[in-house]
Amino acid sequence: MSRPSTTAGTLAALRFDNRFTRDLPADPETENRRRQVFDACYSRVLPVQTARPRLVSTSREAATLLDLAERDCRTELFARVFSGNQLLPGMDPHAACYGGHQFGNWAGQLGDGRAINLGEVVNNHGEHWMVQLKGAGPTPYSRNADGRAVLRSSLREFLCSEAMFHLGVPTTRALSLILTGDTVERDMFYDGHPEEEPGAVVCRLAPSFVRFGNFEILAARGDFGLLRQLADFCIRTFFPHLGEPAPEIYGRWFEEICRATAALMVHWLRVGFVHGVMNTDNMSIHGLTIDYGPYGWLENYDPTWTPNTTDAKGRRYCFGRQPAIAHWNLARLADAFVPLIGHVEPLEQSLRDFTGYFEDGWEAMMAQKLGLIAFEPDQDRPLFRELLRLLPEVETDMTLFFRQLALVPVEARISPERRSAPLEEVYYRPEQLNRAYRDRLDAWLETYAERVRRDGSPDAERRQRMHAVNPKYVLRNYLAQLAIDKVMAGEYSLVDELLEVLRHPYDDQPDKEMFAGKRPEWARHRPGCSMLSCSS
Ligand code: AMP
Ligand code: MG
Repeated sequence: MSRPSTTAGTLAALRFDNRFTRDLPADPETENRRRQVFDACYSRVLPVQTARPRLVSTSREAATLLDLAERDCRTELFARVFSGNQLLPGMDPHAACYGGHQFGNWAGQLGDGRAINLGEVVNNHGEHWMVQLKGAGPTPYSRNADGRAVLRSSLREFLCSEAMFHLGVPTTRALSLILTGDTVERDMFYDGHPEEEPGAVVCRLAPSFVRFGNFEILAARGDFGLLRQLADFCIRTFFPHLGEPAPEIYGRWFEEICRATAALMVHWLRVGFVHGVMNTDNMSIHGLTIDYGPYGWLENYDPTWTPNTTDAKGRRYCFGRQPAIAHWNLARLADAFVPLIGHVEPLEQSLRDFTGYFEDGWEAMMAQKLGLIAFEPDQDRPLFRELLRLLPEVETDMTLFFRQLALVPVEARISPERRSAPLEEVYYRPEQLNRAYRDRLDAWLETYAERVRRDGSPDAERRQRMHAVNPKYVLRNYLAQLAIDKVMAGEYSLVDELLEVLRHPYDDQPDKEMFAGKRPEWARHRPGCSMLSCSS
């Protein structure tokens, strides 16, 4: 479909319709100093000027959401605006007030400490997109931090947001990655070795950046009038199909958030994504992946793996616990919604239903990953169970395993060696594949092949179906680190190259095989490749 052509003045002509700041109360104080903010959903605040903004990369798909063409993104004005150095007419910069439960504990007021919303753009399709800069300077919510972001974390957020979009995973979007020209001091592993690092700003886009924590803070403070006002605003603005706000409608809205969150968890488990910091302030009411910090991608399939060094001991946010944590977080949102409804039953019902939404979605997703046309509970549950027992026992690359499984021949009466041949390349330590393990794997493959034959679809079709849900290209942890190393050395091209590869994560791209392989051994223990901290 062709887009309407854009003119050179498009950026300056962006149209804003700032519903959030128009319809909700602002912090009456305008001085930008750190403090508790009461009776308000946000504080107006200006981004800081930076030394020398320099564009590293833009996403052309995200740009089209603002009706911007690629050439609009290469202008000096673009770099100035999306690094926070220049405001456009109609913008209304502000930081949102929210609280949250961090690692299971109520943390009180958090808020946009290093994010500044510029305003809501209305595009040619009438869609509203909140434009937000991450790393554009301090706000009243910055607590004891500086409001800045460093290149490494910004690059990781930029690439991963767009990679997730192309994988079909609900996510906030990233328009641009811009170096500020300033340096920022960070102690990467909180071990008393701070270093100056290049600062950067990512421009993010989403229908809204409203989190569970926006409601939690109001409920915790007993500000039920504003709680209702914010809920009514969200329903009327983002969920109008539910009807006019009323106690029953709040319950239906919560149910919708539970469904969207369950669907998101299914997606994360499908592609091997670990968020890393699933605090309630990092949970979107739209069921979007939000706040890319110390996230990571499963390399060897290990449900207990977490990329977040801060979480290394408790592993609260490891891969396999994400659905349970989502449920816990939804329960905190439910607590905040109780004053709206006056009783707990509908909320409790939705929380119970969450488990079913997730499990149904997960089983359907697993059936798809295995190329099965329909899920048959009696046969398929044991098949999934045994597979998930087998995968972590030897270091198996998750992405490659499912991709290669599509190539496993399923005809009857072939040797186990021929059957398992396509999987040879998916192991990190082939020496772990002892006889006993191979026998179990062969037995599983035999059962799988029988099951596929019963399904009766031609093999080429099974492969096509599997390739459509099992990505070949994900943003492997070490790939993001390679791009960071290059940009630090002044070379930007790998960012665009990765962005291009990740645009088509399900396609075979013969000249890009190098980005599809297993993590190289050097990356096994290198900081940034296998472990990250919240410091950004
Ligand atoms: P996160 O878990 O990284 O999403 O952040 C948790 C809270 O800390 C949020 O309120 C952030 O705005 C705040 N925060 C994180 N990094 C910074 C920073 N460099 N400056 C100010 N606030 C920050
Ligand atoms: Mg956050």
